Amino acid sequence: MIRPILKYGEHVLHHPADHVANITGEIATLVQDMIETMYAAPGIGLAAPQIGIPLRIFVVDLSVGRNSGGLLTLVNPEFVDRDGMQLEEEGCLSLPGFNATVARPGKATVRGLDLNGKEQVVESTELLARAFQHEMDHLDGRVFVDRLRGIQRDVIVRRIKKLARTGKW
Ligand SMILES: [Zn+2]
Repeated sequence: MIRPILKYGEHVLHHPADHVANITGEIATLVQDMIETMYAAPGIGLAAPQIGIPLRIFVVDLSVGRNSGGLLTLVNPEFVDRDGMQLEEEGCLSLPGFNATVARPGKATVRGLDLNGKEQVVESTELLARAFQHEMDHLDGRVFVDRLRGIQRDVIVRRIKKLARTGKW
């Protein structure tokens, strides 16, 4: 089921999510909904808080469903290692219409569970490393604008507030 994607300003997007205690059928259904919602958007990543569920789960697929095997589901993910630096433009399904250049480590190794509860360790560089760090931020209650410098951030936040005041957000 495709679920509505929450936008910047919703409480759940700005607070850390909880660990998943057990991978139940309900969690499997939630992940299926996250995948459908990500593909429909379309996007390359989606974290559970973006559909209003404050749990530490994200899905990423750089191919947006075109390549089988491109889909990664991570439950209770954590960084094992991060290294280097990359500077690229970034957007977010919870901030439609906004992009900014965000500095992030160039490499990231993430460890988390799959839907069978099996541990998986994934090494990444470039866009995949960026996607992992972006989604991990969501689980910690952060969005990419929180990583911008003061003025850049203020400009975006002010524009969102203006849109919200006129009912366009
Ligand atoms: Zn996002």
